[in-house]
Order: sequence, then C-alpha cells, then structure tokens
Amino acid sequence: MVAGLALTGLFLHAAGVAIPGLTGGSPVVLGFPHPKAGIEESDHSLSEPTAAPAGGGPHAFVAVQSDGKTPVAYDPCRPIHYVVRPDNAPVGGLQLITDAIARVSQLTGLQFRYDGTTEEPPTKNRALYQPDRYGKRWAPVLISWDTTAEDPNLAADVAGEAGSARLALTGTPTVYVTGGVALDAAQFTQILNRPGGTAHARAVVLHELGHLVGLAHVTDPTQLMFPEASPGVLDYAVGDLTGLSQLGAGACVPQL
Ligand SMILES: [Zn+2]
Repeated sequence: MVAGLALTGLFLHAAGVAIPGLTGGSPVVLGFPHPKAGIEESDHSLSEPTAAPAGGGPHAFVAVQSDGKTPVAYDPCRPIHYVVRPDNAPVGGLQLITDAIARVSQLTGLQFRYDGTTEEPPTKNRALYQPDRYGKRWAPVLISWDTTAEDPNLAADVAGEAGSARLALTGTPTVYVTGGVALDAAQFTQILNRPGGTAHARAVVLHELGHLVGLAHVTDPTQLMFPEASPGVLDYAVGDLTGLSQLGAGACVPQL
C-alpha cells in the first residue's frame, strides 16, 4: 500500500529569475557566475517528443512563458546532464533512476547524459554554475537520496521533491538550465522491500522527473502528477503524456 504517500514538487533552486541582458551586440551579462552562451547547443532539436495522445488530458505546468500558455521547458537543442549522489541509495537505486530517465527521454525527446556520481550534497540554494566541480557549463541536474535531516521537506509521507531553475535574457524565452531531484532514501528502501515495490518506486521517480522537466500537480487522481500516490497509477497517464509532449517541444536558446 502506498496510500497516503505524498509527493511534492517544490523548487529546490531559483524560483524563476528573469535576468536582463545587454542589447546592441554587447556581451550578455548575468548578475552571477555563468558559463559561456550556447555550450553544446545544436542548431536543431536533438530528438522529437512522442506525440500527445489524441484528445489530450489534464496537465499543468510549473511555469509558462509571457504568452500565458507555452510552458517553460528545457532547451531541446542541448543535452541535459545529470549526476547522482549515491550516498544512502537503496539497493537498485541507480537502475531505478536510469530506467525512469529513459522513460522521460522517450516521451519528451529530451536527451539526458549521465555524468556519473558526485559528492556534491543537496543544498537549498545550489549554485547553477560550478566550473571547478563540473566544468564550464551549467551544473548538471543533481539527483540525490536524502535523509530527512538533509531535507526536512521529506519528513512525514513526502517521498521526494524536484524542480528546475529557470532563466531568461531580455528577448529570449525562459528555459530551465539545471535542476534537482531529492528522493527520500529511507522511504524508498521501505517501498522497494514491499511486494510490487519496484513499480511503486519507479512511479515516484517518474512523478519527480515530471516536476524536473516542468509538470505541476493536477487534481485528477488518475494522473501520475496527482500529488499523492494513487493505487494502480504506476506510469504517466494521458494528461501527463500531453504535458510531457509539450515540454519536449520548447524553444532552443543559444543565448544562455
Ligand atoms: Zn509532486
């Protein structure tokens, strides 16, 4: 039983900062350390999203562009790097992450690159650019297995939280540049030890990865992005799929 297992999608990092850039051919100036523009940017989407189901379904986005409807998404013209902090990981934890990432990649077309393990601890105000640790590009998405001491938001029934940091320059769409996924190590160990637990654990990771790429909660309990685990909802449903398809079709922003 996973009834009562709550899932949240809090922002781990910046809660949306629009940063004015200089215009007129001057180099763009961000108000904090940042990589050169357009690292690894291709001139086309690296892959296309899976088409949304006919008729769609209920979904919501964490943030939208200034038109009020187009979702803020990751740049599909460059890979999304991610690292995993292995401390506290349950048995099979990395495989769980790998499988869930593959599912999100298949649906959104977003290309993820696993850069290995890290010793970086999860923190509330994580630097978006850490050249000494990760090289001269936006820091990778950090996935970690946390204790409730490390992340008090994971107390009680909350099994994970995830979010991404979004940036915009004057005249560009807003895009996510990095993010974080915090998974409750102790709860995952419990879930995985139950009969059928692997499928439930995978569902929780998929829910959190939904937040990572830009899905918000919905009120329909048949969708995976419902804020609590529902019996039998173990994969993305029609509304989730509709949202993920749009999140894989974001704008490319070589200026960041
Ligand atoms: Zn959630």
